[in-house]
Amino acid sequence: MKPKVAFFDFTCCEGCQLQMANFGETLLEILKLVDVVTFREVMSERSEDYDIAIIEGSITTEHDVERIKKIREKAKVVIAYGSCATIGGINGMKNKFPLDEIKEYVYKDGAKYFPTILTRPVHQVVKVDYFINCCPVYPPEIVKVLKAALQGIPYEAPDYAVCVECKLNENVCMYDKGITCLGPVTKAGCNSWCINNGNICYGCRGMVSNPAKTGQMDILEKYKIPLDWVVNKVDMYNKPRELEEEKPKK
Ligand code: SF4
Ligand code: SF4
Ligand code: SF4
Repeated sequence: MKPKVAFFDFTCCEGCQLQMANFGETLLEILKLVDVVTFREVMSERSEDYDIAIIEGSITTEHDVERIKKIREKAKVVIAYGSCATIGGINGMKNKFPLDEIKEYVYKDGAKYFPTILTRPVHQVVKVDYFINCCPVYPPEIVKVLKAALQGIPYEAPDYAVCVECKLNENVCMYDKGITCLGPVTKAGCNSWCINNGNICYGCRGMVSNPAKTGQMDILEKYKIPLDWVVNKVDMYNKPRELEEEKPKK
């Protein structure tokens, strides 16, 4: 019997589900190994009977909290899927402001109809077994994590900086072009995906566990770049990190 897989979306743009839907031949290979029983973006069938829950999106309401707890109770394996789910992602930008203030700014008089809480990645609410990073998810990592989950073995993303992969790919550093880049403090594992394609690293995989703050400050000083420019970029994906001290609940 093949393991049953269900996709669930919480607060997000659903771009990571789309990434899976666009997976082409690799998706066909995956479907030889698993039965997808719930995947709202591509099928109308649904099932409450699943082994692996793939969670897209972050937790931003009390209703989300209850819902993810119920999914956790049913699933043997929970995979956080994409930056929104693994680190809170861009939804976490609201954590920078008082909640009432941000609700009024967005919803005006309708603010009272939108009960929102601080953005949390999934593991800050329930136990997560595997993490697939990036915004949107990086296809080679989807395959690696699914292989590990199906074999029941751990998967650990690298905990060194994107710069390592970027240097191996022989890219010209963005700082040499006068552009800020979060590669020095962001977890690798995407093979410097964005820089290879002419963009900067926005930090979508989250920060390394021990960021080289002194090294980053030296870079800013060398290139005469204001600290604010980098801090704003860090906040774009990493604001929920400040809640990281909270222990994940079982
Ligand atoms: S991680 Fe990015 S692409 Fe994926 S759902 Fe969140 S915002 Fe969309
Ligand atoms: S700062 Fe950015 S562009 Fe420069 S090496 Fe690091 S990842 Fe590459
Ligand atoms: S280069 Fe940076 S922003 Fe781009 S996918 Fe990798 S971690 Fe994310």
